[in-house]
Amino acid sequence: METQYRVLLYYKFVPVDNHEQLAAEHLEYCKNLGVLGRILIAPEGINGTLSGTFEQTEAYMNYLRSDLRFADTEFKIDTVDVQPFHKIFVRAKAELVTFRLEDDVKPYEMTGKYLNAEEFYKALKEEEVIVIDGRTDYEYEVGHFHNAICPPVASFREFPEWIRSEFGDKKHKKILTYCTGGIRCEKLTAFMVKEGFTDVYQLEGGIVKYGKDEKVRGALWEGLCYVFDERITVPINHTDEGNIVVGRCYHCGTETDTYINCANMYCNRQHLTCEKCLLEHEHCCSDTCKESTHKKKEYVDYVVDLRNKAVIA
Ligand SMILES: [Zn+2]
Ligand SMILES: [Zn+2]
Repeated sequence: METQYRVLLYYKFVPVDNHEQLAAEHLEYCKNLGVLGRILIAPEGINGTLSGTFEQTEAYMNYLRSDLRFADTEFKIDTVDVQPFHKIFVRAKAELVTFRLEDDVKPYEMTGKYLNAEEFYKALKEEEVIVIDGRTDYEYEVGHFHNAICPPVASFREFPEWIRSEFGDKKHKKILTYCTGGIRCEKLTAFMVKEGFTDVYQLEGGIVKYGKDEKVRGALWEGLCYVFDERITVPINHTDEGNIVVGRCYHCGTETDTYINCANMYCNRQHLTCEKCLLEHEHCCSDTCKESTHKKKEYVDYVVDLRNKAVIA
């Protein structure tokens, strides 16, 4: 029987006064346990994505919850056949979600109201509601909620400025936000509440949890959901309307939801591509990259394989 692994996704906003020391202890513990992934610890809390066997991930959850500050941390658990991580990183950071505002925004003091999957689904269908995607434009590109506004931002710290300029005159409108696992919305809505927005809601547990709700089954989600591990994208909408493709090939504009990294290892640009362009551009984002002598072997091999298959077919 094949070994199955679990991926844990979690965060908790809570004051952590010794975040650097805690990060060091955490790294030590995780190394001994053998879990892989990425954990951030900041004065505002903890955020992690970890993978390991059933036993390892159980042990980790017990370990984290034994610290009273993290006792009620909620874990989202996925089962996978292949470990999506190769290493363990535990980093002490200034913020979990980087805003770098002059004034701290503290989600554990105030944040937008939470909506579960069913409530969020209902709210999405309301007439006047404004739906803001709380992620970046390249995540939006491959999939998003129906009618959601794409934030024209390449990084999260650009949000405050965009919110102020774009929605400053809509502070009393009903606003919904969502992100992958919920963490960015905690901070985004906390910021909005602080700015004087009066009717702000966030999707509890994020898109990933929404896709697992048995009643809603990911309805009104279009495309796939971008995730920060080797899977790159995961399906969310499991209804009959679930197979809408919203991504467009970076080269030719055809519908596609295949995300790849440029084969040139000095570029590595993540982009959507159709199969035809993948072959034509040899897993690269540009002609310059295609001519590069520093292409990753696994991608070069992949193109050769694909070409052989195409010839056989
Ligand atoms: Zn194409
Ligand atoms: Zn490139």
